Amino acid sequence: MSESSTDSNCSRRYCKCRSEIKHWTSWTDLNPRRRFEACCNNRNSKRGLHFFAWVENERCPRGKEILPGLLRRLRGMEDELRATTENFRLMEEEKNKLEQKLREEEEEIKILKKQNLGIGQQVVVLKGEILSYQLRQRWFRVVVLLCFMIVILFINMDDLVV
Ligand SMILES: [Zn+2]
Repeated sequence: MSESSTDSNCSRRYCKCRSEIKHWTSWTDLNPRRRFEACCNNRNSKRGLHFFAWVENERCPRGKEILPGLLRRLRGMEDELRATTENFRLMEEEKNKLEQKLREEEEEIKILKKQNLGIGQQVVVLKGEILSYQLRQRWFRVVVLLCFMIVILFINMDDLVV
């Protein structure tokens, strides 16, 4: 039997076992949505030891016929809702994991960018060095050429003198 409790605090009554008597609603196929009062200690017992009493009369045959089907549909919908909620929770978890991964990758990209900036600076320094080397090389060529010309000039002058 499945029941739900609807507690009414206004008039508290107690069973022989000193437990409180509360209002409940039955959701069984035999007594769908039929209210009853029962001892909190043992609300399923209809016999002797604990208090139990139906508050409402039995449902009419048509109600008895329709309500179980409706209740089954309701339970089916509740199950579906639970499954959807669970799916949603899983998707939320997946989303959080992906967001965490994204944050980590963004952090990695930041580090790589910093490294790249360092490499860029090194490249600039190397380019500067290459340029100054090329300049020195040009001057060296000019100097060598001048020396060669001077030597040739001296040789020719020697020839002129002789
Ligand atoms: Zn009792």
